[in-house]
Amino acid sequence: MTIIRDIPLSLTMEHILRRQGMANISAVSPKILALSRELIDEVGTLQSLDPAIAYEFCPVNEINDRGERLHGQKRFPFASELAAIACTIGSQLERKVTDYFAHDEPLRGVLLDGIGSAAVDILAQEACRMIGVVAGSQGNESSSPLSPGMPGLPLSEQRALCRIAQAEKIGVHLSESAMMMPRKSISMLVGIGPKMPTWTKAQVCSECVLNKTCRYKIGSSRLAENKK
Ligand code: SF4
Repeated sequence: MTIIRDIPLSLTMEHILRRQGMANISAVSPKILALSRELIDEVGTLQSLDPAIAYEFCPVNEINDRGERLHGQKRFPFASELAAIACTIGSQLERKVTDYFAHDEPLRGVLLDGIGSAAVDILAQEACRMIGVVAGSQGNESSSPLSPGMPGLPLSEQRALCRIAQAEKIGVHLSESAMMMPRKSISMLVGIGPKMPTWTKAQVCSECVLNKTCRYKIGSSRLAENKK
């Protein structure tokens, strides 16, 4: 098992606003932009992000908590092994979000929550990049990631995935309903092998059952930007 901390995250305003459901930056009010910039500075000053990644490579026949083989391998039929990954930005930022709501500052709370979502997205991308480097050093490729709940990896695999990645070593725990705590955490399964499939975030959104209504989806215009 590998744990990585002190990971620099470079947040962009576009990414942050998209995670707040405001994909068109030119349509965002100056007040929202100014407040978002203020909150980004506050996150840096207060060091509200504590990013950490835990990952473990496991054989493709790794069993889940019900004694079955992990489902994710069906999406990577030619994988020689799997990487189970957990990442989190810690709990400081979400405590601050709760404070803002408790002190009647919901706009600050919503915007800061979006900053946290953008940060954990970037952290997940960095985790996948790191896995790709390890796979490449062994002459293999890494697939795009699957998270529990995506087509090919049922939500019921969340416990097995976090157990294999040893998510608790970076302070991530699961609630009774298998929700990750801190909330700004992500678990992923990546296939490793000689020729692994990849997909874009836009393709994931296009397959998602929430596609028609989701404010956070990535459209086809971003295919190139997000291509691995
Ligand atoms: S469309 Fe689905 S996959 Fe895409 S951002 Fe929304 S919930 Fe996530």
